[in-house]
Amino acid sequence: MAGFEVQTREHVVFVDITSQVAAAAVESGARDGVVVVYVPHTTAGVTINENADPSVRADMKLALERLVPRSLPFTHLEGNADAHVKASLTGSSVIVPLADGRLQLGTWQGVYFAEFDGPRRRRVLVSVLAAR
Ligand code: ZN
Repeated sequence: MAGFEVQTREHVVFVDITSQVAAAAVESGARDGVVVVYVPHTTAGVTINENADPSVRADMKLALERLVPRSLPFTHLEGNADAHVKASLTGSSVIVPLADGRLQLGTWQGVYFAEFDGPRRRRVLVSVLAAR
């Protein structure tokens, strides 16, 4: 099981982790298979989206904030219920095909760590399932 840490510096932020995921895939030695990226946290997630125009990340942040505002009458005592809901909406894992040792992401795709209750030090786990 490979992985790496992400230090987020904002309360809500999408961090491009594509290069770290690609590096973990290379380190596995696998050429073909699938790469599972997993975030073991309840107020953060992982998603794949556009890596060219940064405004897409800003728009995702805006949309999630409108969908799940912190001002809702939540009951979770810790005060970060919105982050829990956003993490579930985003999801805890993504799967990327691996071919010839390279992630098969589309031209405009990147893998993003989604922080919803930062800043925090977070972990990302990467499992490579090699095809035989
Ligand atoms: Zn909580």
